[in-house]
Order: sequence, then C-alpha cells, then structure tokens
Amino acid sequence: MLPPGSTIGILGGGQLGRMLGLAAAQLGYKVHVYAPDAESVAAEVTAHHSQAAWDDEPRLAAFAAACDAVTFEFENVPVDTVRFLSGHVAIRPGALGLEIAQDRLAEKKFVADLGGRTAPFASVPDRAALDIALADIGAPAILKTVRMGYDGKGQARLATPADADTAWQTIGRHAAILEGFVAFEHEFSVILVRGIDGEIRTWDSSVNVHEGGILATASLPPPPVVIEQQDEARAMMAEIADALDYVGVLTGEFFATDAGPVFNEMAPRVHNSGHWTIEGAVTSQFENHIRAIAGLPLGSTATRQLPVMMRNLIGADIALIPDLLADENCHVHHYSKTEVREGRKLGHATWAGASPT
Ligand code: AMP
Repeated sequence: MLPPGSTIGILGGGQLGRMLGLAAAQLGYKVHVYAPDAESVAAEVTAHHSQAAWDDEPRLAAFAAACDAVTFEFENVPVDTVRFLSGHVAIRPGALGLEIAQDRLAEKKFVADLGGRTAPFASVPDRAALDIALADIGAPAILKTVRMGYDGKGQARLATPADADTAWQTIGRHAAILEGFVAFEHEFSVILVRGIDGEIRTWDSSVNVHEGGILATASLPPPPVVIEQQDEARAMMAEIADALDYVGVLTGEFFATDAGPVFNEMAPRVHNSGHWTIEGAVTSQFENHIRAIAGLPLGSTATRQLPVMMRNLIGADIALIPDLLADENCHVHHYSKTEVREGRKLGHATWAGASPT
C-alpha cells in the first residue's frame, strides 16, 4: 500500500491525467506528469511535471526515481517506454494490456482466443490482402488501421467491394484490419477496476452515442437490451483483466446485437464513457484507478441515483458552458485546453440523478 505523501507518476498529460491527478490529490498523493507535449492540462493540477520525449531514457530514469508507482492515461505511450520504466519502478497496469490494445489485430485475436464474440475480422497488411479479406468477410465492412486509430480516425467504411481502392487510400495505405459491419442496436461500455489482489468491481454500463466517430453522450439507464447483455460483457472483460493480471481501470466497448454483446475494442485506462462516475457513482473511475494502483481497498462502484447523462463538450460546444451552468443540476468540467479545434474534447457536462433541463 502506498502511504499518503507518495508520488504517483502518470504518463500522458491530457484530461484523463488531469482527472486522475485530482483524484490522487484527494487521497493525499503527489502526482508527477510525464509527457512530451508543451501543453499539459494534467500538469496544471499536479505537483511535478517532466516535459520530455518518450524515448529520453535519462529523463525516464529520473522520473522513475522520483515516483513510487507509475500509471498511464494515454493509450499510445510506446510500449518500449513502459518496459524501460518497469525496470526501475512499479508500473500498473503493466505493458501487456497496452501492447495488445495498441494493435487492433492482436486485440481481436486475444479476445477471440479467450472465447469472446467479435466482428468477423481479417488481417490486411497490404492492398492485395484487402481483396482477399473482402472475399472472405464480404461487404459492408470497415477497414481500420491496426495502429494509432482513435475517435473514428484511421477508418473507412466499404459499402461494396468496389470501395476497396478508396478505403485503402483513406486510411493512408497502412497495415489494417478488415471487420465485418456489425448490425448493432446500441453501443455500450463495460468499465471495471481490478485491484492488486485480483478483486474486480464493475460500474453500471452506459449506452454510448457517437457522432462522427467521437463519443457524444454516455447515459444511464441504458435501454433494456444493454441491461440484458451487460452481464455477459462484464464476464468477458473480467476474463480479459484476469488474463492480463491487470491492475487499475480497464474499459471494453461493445455492440448490443441480436446475437449478444460483440466486443469492439478495449482501452487499458480510464475512459471517456466513465466520466459520469465522478458525480454519478459512489466512487469514480479515477479514484478507483488510483486506489487500485496504490494497493488501497476499492470503493463501491454503485450508481448513486438514476438517471445519469454525460455529454462531451467538443470544439465549439465549449461556448455552451454559461448556459450549462445555469442548469442547477449540471456539473461542468472544463479541461483548460487553450486551442479550440473542431473535434477536440474540451470538457464535459454531467447530470447525475437529474435530466438536462
Ligand atoms: P472504433 O474506433 O473501433 O471504436 O470505431 C469507431 C466507431 O465506428 C464505433 O464506435 C462504431 O460506431 C463504429 N464501428 C466500429 N467498428 C464497427 C463494426 N465492425 N461494425 C459496425 N460499426 C463499427
């Protein structure tokens, strides 16, 4: 158990690190953010900050020496960085979940090997492989880059095999995975926390609505089909967490379909669809992640009071804050990013135990 006053290192300096940092401070920990970017909205609320490259080994070693445990908030931290740090300091969760989640193909294989339900998929290392994959899987289908895709980036939809050339160009001709198009009723997430002793707790699933590939809202209660399917999805995520000997918060994104829950992807970290837990659950995903990596007892993941709704403030939405604040049941989170850009997550708003007015 990390005693209060210990320093927790966070790799990545975005809003997830900011909210983790606030939760860590509440529990009496100091936080040291390590990120290459000049702007770090996490470092603004934490005690220490290293702005250095992911491969700067002397800086990484100094960071490790200054921390009692390290975690990450950014899914594309190079695995080599995490492996290097793990020789110097406890890093939770470890590199394995990160490595699998960074590679869509490895991720789907890993889950399918554990018996999980996924979309049909095939490896597309080059353009010729796309035709073979299409003959196998059929259309409609989605072509996704194996690496570095998020928020709908690095993806192209194929209505028919005739779209193959365009899709291959759209994703930048990178190694890819072709997935059969899943006819889903709803998208939902399972967010769990696993302690150092292997105890697992799960928050209630929200129904997630995406716009332009970016999460727009996460709401509870979800439709009945999600409630019916969440137990099976939870069991799948628990199996994944155990197989990875995972410590901390792990997120799985699912499609609710006629055949049951279909695993789409996982994030080895706290997740945007879990921001509602700050006000809506007894213990937030951020606090439980810190508790888990610090070896503290986990807090209750129970929902306080329905309904709950989290809405992302993306790009120009940030100008809505004065109106949102006028709604007395709305909790506003401003991430303090200076540049307003279309598609950039700049904040979120949560209604817990109340609906937007
Ligand atoms: P992803 O980056 O994998 O989360 O995909 C972004 C969004 O694209 C998802 O939230 C879904 O709305 C949609 N999507 C991804 N994969 C599929 C699929 N195999 N079938 C249907 N829709 C998908």
